[in-house]
Amino acid sequence: MVTRFVLALVLINSINGCKTEKLNEENKKPGRTEIALVIHGGAGTIRREEMSPEREKAYHVALKQALEAGYTVLENGGTSVDAVVTSISIMEDSPLFNAGKGAVFSHAGKNELDASIMEGNTLMAGAVAGVATIKNPIKAAHAVMTKSSHVMLTGNGADQFAKEQGLEIVDQAYFFDSARYQQFLELSPPAKANEKTAARKEKKFGTVGAVALDQLGNIAAGTSTGGMTNKKYGRVGDSPIIGAGTYAKNISCGVSATGWGEYFIRLLVAHDISAMMEYAGLSLEAAADSVIMKKLPALGGDGGIIALDRSGNISMTFNTDGMYRGFIRKKGEAKTFIYKDEDLSASE
Ligand code: ASP
Repeated sequence: MVTRFVLALVLINSINGCKTEKLNEENKKPGRTEIALVIHGGAGTIRREEMSPEREKAYHVALKQALEAGYTVLENGGTSVDAVVTSISIMEDSPLFNAGKGAVFSHAGKNELDASIMEGNTLMAGAVAGVATIKNPIKAAHAVMTKSSHVMLTGNGADQFAKEQGLEIVDQAYFFDSARYQQFLELSPPAKANEKTAARKEKKFGTVGAVALDQLGNIAAGTSTGGMTNKKYGRVGDSPIIGAGTYAKNISCGVSATGWGEYFIRLLVAHDISAMMEYAGLSLEAAADSVIMKKLPALGGDGGIIALDRSGNISMTFNTDGMYRGFIRKKGEAKTFIYKDEDLSASE
């Protein structure tokens, strides 16, 4: 009797083992070798009437620069992970975005940064949260993924790890941007907005993210942010949380999110899109649409995602007025967009 039970267990385990192996095999299958890269610089209340032509141009230039640098990595046979780190680092260095230099201020008047990265072939991932001295948090997330046995490091420990890894360390003053500081002053006491209305009022997210498909058919996704203005008590949003703000799996897709992080965490937005493709056989666009245009607003959340699948299909779906975004693929020409009403179909 006992022997039979043990035999049955062994059989079940070996079947499950086969399934897991099959899934892993499937996940590693190279897709098309056509490279592609999609990026975002944050979603939110981004309206034409509030934007000067100079500022608009500055965003297009910065997005193009990030796209072209990442694409060059892919064209030269580099990995999707390297392309993601390259594109995000460029946006982190630009004060236009809420990541790295130009990050928003916390309630304590400090910059606390979050970032994550994931590789869709191996499902390896790395993240840092609440770091204060790392010039490029995405590089620290990458180091966590490749040089440690962990997935997420936080606060001083993460800063310390980055230093030991030889990453560039900066003073808090490096992150300062006067426009961001003004936003902070408007939302902090004595303006006395409660946390909910403060978050609502801001409505400008500005996080950055990238998703890439390399010549081997491997997908990677990454996200980097300063979080939300006036955040308190060491608040961490979705951006460094694998499955919420970032996810990548070769058999489905790679996703990077931007928006009101609390809602993205509750819905595990990035993983939900991937899971709908994997379990229900939805297309990338249908899965992204279902999560961003239906589930997210139903809960009261707003924001958007960028994503791509292993065939190089791209989604840039958002339910806000705008999302800084762009993509580049086979023909090698970067396309960038800001507002909701821009016609993407005409841009291919
Ligand atoms: N999702 C980010 C957060 O909640 C904010 C953003 O996308 O800008 O921290």
